[in-house]
Amino acid sequence: MEAALLAWHAEKARDLPWRRTRDPYAILVSEVMLQQTQVERVIPRYRAWLERWPTARALAEASAADAIRAWQGLGYNRRALNLHRAARRIAASGWPADLTDLPGVGRYTADAVSCFAFGEPVLPVDTNVRRVQERAGKVFAATCAQALMDLGATVCLARIPRCDICPLATRCPSRGRRYEPLRKQSRFEGSFRQRRARALRLVADHPRQVEELDAEAFESLRADGLVIARAGVVALPE
Ligand code: SF4
Repeated sequence: MEAALLAWHAEKARDLPWRRTRDPYAILVSEVMLQQTQVERVIPRYRAWLERWPTARALAEASAADAIRAWQGLGYNRRALNLHRAARRIAASGWPADLTDLPGVGRYTADAVSCFAFGEPVLPVDTNVRRVQERAGKVFAATCAQALMDLGATVCLARIPRCDICPLATRCPSRGRRYEPLRKQSRFEGSFRQRRARALRLVADHPRQVEELDAEAFESLRADGLVIARAGVVALPE
């Protein structure tokens, strides 16, 4: 199965900018961005981020406020703060042996950086990889990571898998099955996330009086460390 998968991938691999590097910082940036944002939206933002901050040290020397501002529009802004904190940690004391020690880095992201940057034989299991492995009834080697991700994103789709063009079809026990619709991500419009995003945008624009902001959204942003308040004035952290 692995040989068939890799042969398919040799032809069909998606050309993504973070696959052209083994720089752990660049790969960390891409993985954090991809945690909750779609590939197409990430590509230009990833390029812009690396142009501005090409190394962990460069990002560490920037202010948290600049990192948060540069993140606007990607959503889930705590990721910017965590990435900035991770960069400061890496700049100060290098990459930790256990990458999950870095802020905002969970098991999947740690495994992705280990595999794609450090070449360690660990398979990062994201939603696509999990789905393909479950359906194919097989645990794949780390060398198949990108192929599995691409197969899950383009062929072994969540609801209606395209088994007719799948390189695993001849030996896949799930071939031809259909699946229930997935739960949709909760609506952004009218949500608390939207209120938070709006309040953060106002503060990112320039410091605001507390009274100018949605009180609940402000408290939540402050609890996350995305804004600070001094003498009634709310600003981004430095
Ligand atoms: S044969 Fe179908 S269900 Fe099995 S891995 Fe391929 S696309 Fe997925």
